[in-house]
Amino acid sequence: MAFYSSFGAASEVTGSCHLLEIGHIKLLIDCGMFQGKEETLNYEEFGFDPRKINYLILTHAHLDHIGRVPLLVKKGFKGSIICTKATFDIAKLMLKNSAGILQEKEHPLYTMDDIEPVLNLFDTFLEYNQSLNLEEDIRISFKNAGHILGSASLKVKYEEDGMKKSAVFSGDIGQQSRIITSALDCWHKANYIFIEATYGDRQHPNLALSINDFKQKIVQKTHHGGVVVLPSFALERTQEILYLLRQLSLEKKLENIPVFLDSPLAINVTKTFTNYPELFNEEIKTILNKGENPFSFKELTTCYTKEESIQINETQGAKIIIAGSGMCEGGRVKYHLARYLQDRKNMVLFIGYQVGGTLGKKILAGEDTIEIEGHLIKINATISCIDGFSAHADQKELIHFIKNIKDIYCINLIHGDKTKLEIFKEKLSHELKDKVHIVKMKERIYI
Ligand SMILES: [Zn+2]
Repeated sequence: MAFYSSFGAASEVTGSCHLLEIGHIKLLIDCGMFQGKEETLNYEEFGFDPRKINYLILTHAHLDHIGRVPLLVKKGFKGSIICTKATFDIAKLMLKNSAGILQEKEHPLYTMDDIEPVLNLFDTFLEYNQSLNLEEDIRISFKNAGHILGSASLKVKYEEDGMKKSAVFSGDIGQQSRIITSALDCWHKANYIFIEATYGDRQHPNLALSINDFKQKIVQKTHHGGVVVLPSFALERTQEILYLLRQLSLEKKLENIPVFLDSPLAINVTKTFTNYPELFNEEIKTILNKGENPFSFKELTTCYTKEESIQINETQGAKIIIAGSGMCEGGRVKYHLARYLQDRKNMVLFIGYQVGGTLGKKILAGEDTIEIEGHLIKINATISCIDGFSAHADQKELIHFIKNIKDIYCINLIHGDKTKLEIFKEKLSHELKDKVHIVKMKERIYI
C-alpha cells in the first residue's frame, strides 16, 4: 500500500513537507520552514516520527523547503538526504545563514552546532534526467524544475500489489523564460501529480517588459542623483539583478554610478552559482564560455564585512545598493532604508513577493512612516516594484505542466493559498477538473 500525507504547504505556501509511505519505506519530500504568519508552526511536532524516515529528498534550497532539516536531524532522522549537487552546495550556505539568524533568538529552533551533522547525511546526489533505485521496487528521478539553480521536480515509480504506479512531485516550478537559469522540463507520464499552485490564480506580466521597466527605473533615478536601494533575496534574485545591471554597465548607462552588493550570503551564493555553468540558459552559457563572469562589472563592489558595509555611506551622490533581506525583515537593508528612505530623490525598488506583516510589505503598502531599530522614519523616497521576475509558474504555465502528463488518476494541489487553489481548480478544463483534489494538512491519501 502507498500513502501520501502533507505536513506543510497544504493550502499555504511555506513549510513544505510531504510524506510518502510505500510499504514500510518512508520518503520525506522537503522539510521546509514555516514563514511569516505561519512561523509558530515550526515549534510544533512534525506529525510523524523523524527516526522512522528512510530518505529525505530535497527539491531545492529555498528555506521554506529545507529550513527544518536541522530540526528533523535533531529529532532523530538518520536516513539518506538526496538532492542535486547544486542544491547541496546552496543548502550549505542557506542553512548556516539560517542557524546564524536563529541562534540570536530566545528559543532557537537550532544553532550553528546543529548544521554539521546535517551536512554529513547528504550522501546521494541525483542529477536531472538520471534515476536511482532506492529499494527494489522504488525508483526516483529528477527533472529541471526551472525555479532556481539546481531545483528539481521528482518522479517516484513504485509497485503496489504487482501494479506499476508513479507520482510526480513538482516542487516549486518556474516560468518558461528565466533571466539566467535554464527553463523547466516537463514530465510525460504519471498517475498522481502533486503540484504547487502559488500563482494558480493569475498570469505574470511579460518578462521582457518587466526587465525594461527595471532598467528604466534604475537609470532614471540614478541619473537624477538618487540612491536606489534594492532589497533582494540572496538566492537567484540577486544574481538576476547583477546580470541586468551588468547589461546596463556594458550599455554605458551606469558610468560613475557605484553598485554595492551588501550581503555576505548573496556574495557566497553568487560564487557558488558560477560553479554550475551547465545549469544556465544559453545567454549566460555564452558569456561563461568566453571566460567572463555574468555577475560582475566594473561599477560593482562587494561588501563582505561590516566595515565595508558602513563604508557605503561615505560614497556621495547616486549609487545602487543591493542588500538583504528581500522582505526587509533583517539583514543590512534595514540600515540603508533608515538612511535613504527620507529623501525624495531616492528610490526603494522591490523585485520580489512581500509577505503580509513584513517591513517590506508595510513600505510597499504606502505607509507614511515606519519604525526601524526604534527610530521613526518618514518615507519620502519613491517606492516602486517590479512584478514580472517571479520564480514561480503562473496559471497558464501550470496548466501546460499538467497537460504534458498522460495517464493521470488524480491531480493534488499543494503550496498555495486556499482561494488561489480553488480558482486554479476551476480554471482547469472540465476533464482535468474532475480529477483535482485540494490537499488538506495531515490528510492521508491512498495512491
Ligand atoms: Zn522555492
